[in-house]
Amino acid sequence: MINDIEVIKTKSSKINEVDFDNLKFGSVFSDHMLVCDYKNGKWQAPKVMPYQGITLDPSAKIFHYGQSVFEGMKAYKDAEDNVWLFRPLDNCKRLNISSKRLAIPELPEDYFMEGLKALLEVDKDWIPKKDGSSLYIRPFVFASGEGFHASPADEYKFLICTAPSGSYFSGEVKVLIEEKYSRSANGGVGFAKAGGNYAGQFYPTQLAKEKGYQQVIWTDDNTHEYIEEAGAMNIFVRINDTLITGPTSDRILDGITRKSIIELAKAEGINVDVRKLRVDEVVEAAKNGSLKEMFGAGTAAVISPIAGFGYKGEDYDLPKMDDTYANFLKKRITDIQTNKAEDPFGWRYKL
Ligand SMILES: *Cc1c(COP(=O)(O)O)cnc(C)c1O
Repeated sequence: MINDIEVIKTKSSKINEVDFDNLKFGSVFSDHMLVCDYKNGKWQAPKVMPYQGITLDPSAKIFHYGQSVFEGMKAYKDAEDNVWLFRPLDNCKRLNISSKRLAIPELPEDYFMEGLKALLEVDKDWIPKKDGSSLYIRPFVFASGEGFHASPADEYKFLICTAPSGSYFSGEVKVLIEEKYSRSANGGVGFAKAGGNYAGQFYPTQLAKEKGYQQVIWTDDNTHEYIEEAGAMNIFVRINDTLITGPTSDRILDGITRKSIIELAKAEGINVDVRKLRVDEVVEAAKNGSLKEMFGAGTAAVISPIAGFGYKGEDYDLPKMDDTYANFLKKRITDIQTNKAEDPFGWRYKL
């Protein structure tokens, strides 16, 4: 176990410069950050320090070989100013699953959890209270060790930075079902939150945007016949009254929002099918009217409804409905996250 974490406080807080009523997503940063170095074969004591730039040698391996992984999570403040996290140990465990795949040394769980708690304690005034707002938390690890040799670095940095954020509203999202590019492959790193995975998505997403879509629906790399993820979110499709999502694999990331939605929907008596989903099946359902909803699921947006999709040059609109699973489940999950509803699952974590 780690002992008390050293805290070096900023001399000039930026909090009064922030308009907490008009927050965007992830664009202003709180006063402090957690920093923990890996050197001489072990993780050193984490410490909280003022948010500031980092100096790296130009040969640091992160720049050349992309050895980096990250997480995304949120802290919420309830009406009584209690601070809550949502399944934080799952983020900690997943960071290590990602690290292992990228040959990054795994971090002791208490460094992550105690470091996070110490950071949030110092910056708790940065956690917004307004409905829909939260403190977005970005833990990440990267190779700071030096040298052009293509091998794992001998030094790493683990940081946690936070950003007070407003609700992530994406509007009417039209998506393009991808027929050429892939996000991930069997045996690859798609299940990890590895920085390079997202760089690889930018170009195909730019092409989709030029065609008038906001996001790409990733299909399997081999045949492009199965629906896998929606941008950097997991995807759910509702056909008649059944909610369908693909099974996690080398290619599909094990999202905490995804698994929470599956459990919550089942508990609410909604039929959930975790199985491979053919593009053909979704196109057919759109044609015969049994396709009711599609939505992305992830920490940032929680649930992001899809208004229509393009596939092989045809556009398909989804019906506009009042009672959607998307709205219902989003409210259920955010009520649990923000301590507005009972948490029968034990997901909420009080700071
Ligand atoms: C982070 C991520 C998700 C969502 O995971 P959550 O734990 O729900 O935030 C889904 N797909 C990809 C590719 C991701 O990177």
